[in-house]
Amino acid sequence: NRRWVLASRPHGAPVADNFRLEEDDIATPGEGQVLLRTVFLSLDPYMRGRMSDAPSYSPPIKMGEVMCGGTVSRVVKSQHPDFAEGDWVLGYSGWQDYDISGGEGLVKLGDNPPHPSWSLGILGMPGFTAYMGLLDIGQPKPGETLVVAAATGPVGATVGQIGKIKGCRVVGVAGGSEKCRHAVDVLGFDHCIDHHAEDFAEQLAAACPQGIDIYFENVGGKVFDAVLPLLNTSARIPLCGLVSGYNATDLPPRPDRIPLLMATLLKKRIRLQGFIIGQDYGHRIHEFQQEMEQWIRQEIIQYREQLIEGLENAPDAFIGLLEGKNFGKVVVQIGPL
Ligand code: NDP
Repeated sequence: NRRWVLASRPHGAPVADNFRLEEDDIATPGEGQVLLRTVFLSLDPYMRGRMSDAPSYSPPIKMGEVMCGGTVSRVVKSQHPDFAEGDWVLGYSGWQDYDISGGEGLVKLGDNPPHPSWSLGILGMPGFTAYMGLLDIGQPKPGETLVVAAATGPVGATVGQIGKIKGCRVVGVAGGSEKCRHAVDVLGFDHCIDHHAEDFAEQLAAACPQGIDIYFENVGGKVFDAVLPLLNTSARIPLCGLVSGYNATDLPPRPDRIPLLMATLLKKRIRLQGFIIGQDYGHRIHEFQQEMEQWIRQEIIQYREQLIEGLENAPDAFIGLLEGKNFGKVVVQIGPL
């Protein structure tokens, strides 16, 4: 059994030395337990937060502990009445080949799920995040302008596509021309602006001639700076993530913009609301699953996955994810189906 453990806490961007590959024997499940073999491991930006010991909504990974992560696994041996050998399950085994579980939190995916890894993306946590954040906090209405960054990632791509279903004008922000083309040509966004462009703020303003009614916040930083002056009265901001700052060691060296932010929120009566998907919306997962499965069946939602082969490549893929080197939902395939 190979597993990646936290070897040291990153200062700034994570580096290879922060991870250590360990190997031990495959454990045997006791009474009431199952042995799981990981097939797919999800890599997500929140893992950067867990590598730090700064206070957050979840406790940090301890030093020497296996890196956390959502997984899709097969049951290899079962001593648990609810699980049989061969079952597909969604769980939280982390960055390792095998795991022993008492069944808590495991979700059965049924026999022969058509796309088992999608439970880590469009049909799982990132899709659910997009759905609840946009519909419950964003409250989209036909004709409104919706802006979303990290537009080709699993959250942003889903936000924009649901926005189109709800009749919004959707403007994406992404890193590079290939991602921007994908957002328009494949995902059906009205526009997508490359945040690497020198005149990014001007291009965003030109793409939003009626201002911005909903800004789904995934990244923060200079994207938020460009969005702020374009926000309309009564705009909504689901505050989902701030990935541009996850590797930051200090506050950015710039003037204090809090007074401008507060004045804008006040004068324009803007609603800015943070949310943590599992904690705030866990009880509404079935509502999401039903509607999303229907959209996928009707082929009105597109989904792009970036499959990385091999557990040994997980740290590099994760470091790349925080730098925008991924293109689509990052999933590591650890073993055969
Ligand atoms: P993505 O696959 O979209 O990966 C992150 C992307 O962020 C990168 O690919 C990159 O895209 C973009 N990015 C990175 N750095 C910058 C930067 N400096 N400026 C602009 N964009 C940058 O991730 P997810 O879809 O999984 O997650 C999106 C956001 O949602 C994250 O902030 C995540 O933490 C948050 N989240 C929050 C949840 C909650 O419960 N609140 C739950 C799940 C996710 P590009 O190259 O296009 O710029």
